Amino acid sequence: MLMVDKIKKWLELFAAQLHEKKTYLSELDSAIGDGDHGNNMARGADFLLKSLDQSGDTSAVFKNAAMALLSKVGGASGPLYGSALLALSKKAGETDDRSEWIAAGAEAIAHRGKSEAGDKTMLDVWLPVQKALADGTLTHEKIDAFVAETKSLKAKKGRASYLGDRSVGHIDPGAQSSGYLFHAFLEAGA
Ligand code: ADP
Ligand code: MG
Ligand code: MG
Repeated sequence: MLMVDKIKKWLELFAAQLHEKKTYLSELDSAIGDGDHGNNMARGADFLLKSLDQSGDTSAVFKNAAMALLSKVGGASGPLYGSALLALSKKAGETDDRSEWIAAGAEAIAHRGKSEAGDKTMLDVWLPVQKALADGTLTHEKIDAFVAETKSLKAKKGRASYLGDRSVGHIDPGAQSSGYLFHAFLEAGA
């Protein structure tokens, strides 16, 4: 399969998961945020799928997807995923190394969100996934473990940070949706 087709398959599988897990993602966000993460991401999934109709190479696919999320999806997550995909678009023009793509995406999230490792955000999945990719050791089990590990963290960024200590004991919703992104990545063989 051509690389660009694998990337499209990756994003299609991600979008399908976001629809399937919409209620669960909003439940997670109800516990420590405003309960809209599932809706935000399902809306994003619709625009993302539409963006895949446009033709172009891998860089263009990421860029179109990024623009769709940046312009159409509200909340913290739209701009954060949009920025990450934009960084992937740029990096895909320079190298085929997936760990470098994900490193660029994580850097974009950290920059846009002014967040870092341990803040209990999506970054706490992107960063360890990046490491595992670089080592060639990424598995579905590891992704689930990275998501689950956000439970014990105290939120320092985003709405969940308003809860302080009460954010502990809950999975971060953006970490969970990012988990779906990387499960889809493995499934697509992207
Ligand atoms: P909102 O919080 O605006 O309602 P969402 O519910 O769609 O937006 O997304 C919340 C998720 O966004 C969080 O679970 C977290 O993973 C991520 N997030 C929020 N703020 C930041 C940030 N500053 N840096 C990184 N990720 C963040
Ligand atoms: Mg929310
Ligand atoms: Mg919101």
